[in-house]
Amino acid sequence: MARKIGSRYTANQILGRGSAGTVWLGEGPEGPVAVKLLREDLASDQELVGRFVQERTALLVLDHPNVVSVRDLVVDGNDLALVMDLVRGTDLRTRLDRDRRMAPEAAVAIVADVADALAAAHAAGVVHRDVKPENVLLDMQGPLGPGGSHPALLTDFGVAKLIDSPRRTRATKIIGTPDYLAPEIVEGLPPRAAVDIYALATVLYELLAGFTPFGGGHPGAVLRRHVTESVAPLPGIPDELWQLMVQCLAKAPASRLRASELGVRLRELLPMLAGMPPLDVDEPDSEPSGPAGPAEPADQPDSRGAENAAPAASDRPARRRGAVPLVPGAKPADSNRDTHTSMRVPAADELAGGAHGTARVPRAPGARRPGSARHRAQARRRRIALSAGALALIAAVGAGTWWATGGDDAGSPPQDTKNSAPTSP
Ligand code: ADP
Ligand code: MG
Repeated sequence: MARKIGSRYTANQILGRGSAGTVWLGEGPEGPVAVKLLREDLASDQELVGRFVQERTALLVLDHPNVVSVRDLVVDGNDLALVMDLVRGTDLRTRLDRDRRMAPEAAVAIVADVADALAAAHAAGVVHRDVKPENVLLDMQGPLGPGGSHPALLTDFGVAKLIDSPRRTRATKIIGTPDYLAPEIVEGLPPRAAVDIYALATVLYELLAGFTPFGGGHPGAVLRRHVTESVAPLPGIPDELWQLMVQCLAKAPASRLRASELGVRLRELLPMLAGMPPLDVDEPDSEPSGPAGPAEPADQPDSRGAENAAPAASDRPARRRGAVPLVPGAKPADSNRDTHTSMRVPAADELAGGAHGTARVPRAPGARRPGSARHRAQARRRRIALSAGALALIAAVGAGTWWATGGDDAGSPPQDTKNSAPTSP
């Protein structure tokens, strides 16, 4: 079932299927490659094809050992394909599904690799915007690193930016889960480099805990938690590591570390983490388990340490949290932006953390678990269940609002060339 992709490549065998298309094991003039063949409805969108060609240099510019490089873009008849470095291994989501939690040393080594990849990208003016375990590939043929980890490579650079345009989102609804979305995106600000740091710190938390700090329940509730809630500390986590994570999960983007510094600081922790087993944390119940912490002003730097971070659920004052606007001061919907027509405004109880919206506080093992026997498969099903209206909401809140605020997706030149993806000539 081999097929030609342009004049230079052959796609021989399917490696995997993703939301944007199918990834093939291919062959090019310089040897084996991975070819991501975009879905037909994406490839037949003239505007999208135009933007792909326009963005060619932004996608091709990144050359780093922890970046899955895009080598070529092929527009051929109905085919639109990204030719990438072939990574022989698996993605981090698959690994996490298998292991549930990772030992801190391996988790930190993987995240440090991704931080290095982001440092290179940010230095080149590219924001990834979709950092999540699905977009981290583990190279099983690479040398073993700390904690037996394989080299990690970040993939799908620029793809979110290209595909996630307000024009497209109603039809495709492809930009995944809200779990990794930085609060400033929820607030309607354009995505700068710091959104990738927030997402990466969320990934690190997930590798250590087995669940994301603000995930679970209705997507509207997840978005609200990013803006209003403090991250609950993980039992048994070394303080130095926790401090780093808290800093990178700060609500204020300027309080987060830069990618290059994050990479360095994580690697400094590796010797201390050597041999440490995975944290003994159980997935929290996503059912209401008591009131969560007080809302934290979104514009305050979050520099709390482990001692004064979010209190345990039992210490928290019993109060019902009020609804917060997802996009404060958002401009009225522009009738030309079809994204807004698919936006489902969450009901007040959803915003306030209704039936499934309560913050998830990690439980130490042995702690009583009301309702019992929830495990990872359920968490995954919850994630997968975020489709249709949910994703339209994310797209509307995320893409639509920075469109409204003049973000670079609108085709205008970036306002901050250091932190936003360049518009290629
Ligand atoms: P999407 O981002 O469109 O959802 P992915 O990039 O996650 O799709 O690709 C789907 C699957 O294809 C991945 O889980 C992985 O198994 C495989 N894959 C993607 N890129 C590569 C690559 N560069 N080398 C090897 N396999 C890849
Ligand atoms: Mg992907």
